[in-house]
Amino acid sequence: MPCSVCTGGRSRLKLLTVSHVTKSYQGKEKLAVNNLSFELFRGECLGLVGESGCGKSTLARCLLRIESIDEGSIQFNNTAIEHLNERQLHPYRQKMQIVFQNPSAALNPKLRIKDSLVDPYDVYRKKLKLRHFSYTSKEAFVKQLLEAVELPENIANKYPHEISGGQRQRVTIARAISIEPELIVLDEPTASLDVISQGAVLDLLTKLRNTLDLSYLFISHDLAAVHQMSQRIMVMKDGNIVDQFNRDQLFSDHRHPYTKELISIF
Ligand code: ADP
Ligand code: MG
Repeated sequence: MPCSVCTGGRSRLKLLTVSHVTKSYQGKEKLAVNNLSFELFRGECLGLVGESGCGKSTLARCLLRIESIDEGSIQFNNTAIEHLNERQLHPYRQKMQIVFQNPSAALNPKLRIKDSLVDPYDVYRKKLKLRHFSYTSKEAFVKQLLEAVELPENIANKYPHEISGGQRQRVTIARAISIEPELIVLDEPTASLDVISQGAVLDLLTKLRNTLDLSYLFISHDLAAVHQMSQRIMVMKDGNIVDQFNRDQLFSDHRHPYTKELISIF
């Protein structure tokens, strides 16, 4: 059932509609995502929380067509994308970006940060009309991106191993926003960071969502982080969404027993 709740006063245009999506592994033996449906509205941060192994990352990869689905439909801006071929998917790959848990794996260790940063733009530059950033030169573009994620300019010439984990994750965020997507799936974006960097990166993500008109699917096993970030929250267990509600309804008596379990270790 679609969730009929408000999205913090923003317009309720549907950006993503996920209908009865199922994904299994090992033949059909391992059901990772089970007949799952939800909607994500433009401008919101929708949280997805659940314990390790419940299927969050599988769902994320399916939504972005990094993996194919067994059944169901994924609509982005009212277009079904589950059957599109790679050429047809190309524009959607620009509009939907992902930030993974481990920034070290997401960055090419042999590339200087400035070269990693312009990589996505180079792929889409012919078709892309930037609204928030401008590309006059590579240096100027890199400078804007580093500024946007609050990193010092001198990072540009460094290699990933020369900067901290928190800085690396800011670089992957800068890459994701560089092509001005509409949706960013954040798959445990702070799970590999220390507590101080975690808070700072979450604050940065919230700021970027507002300034760049982004929508987020924010995925975490950490209910506190999801609660901090999201206007609406979905709770996932064993491949299913068992509960979904507005942020301020977290502590309501109506919550699913599993949500209450997560709250008890909040
Ligand atoms: P989460 O992100 O919530 O921790 P995952 O989506 O990574 O969960 O995994 C969900 C389930 O699917 C787990 O049981 C996991 O072992 C299984 N799984 C995930 N990816 C694969 C894969 N490529 N091959 C086989 N099983 C997988
Ligand atoms: Mg995961």
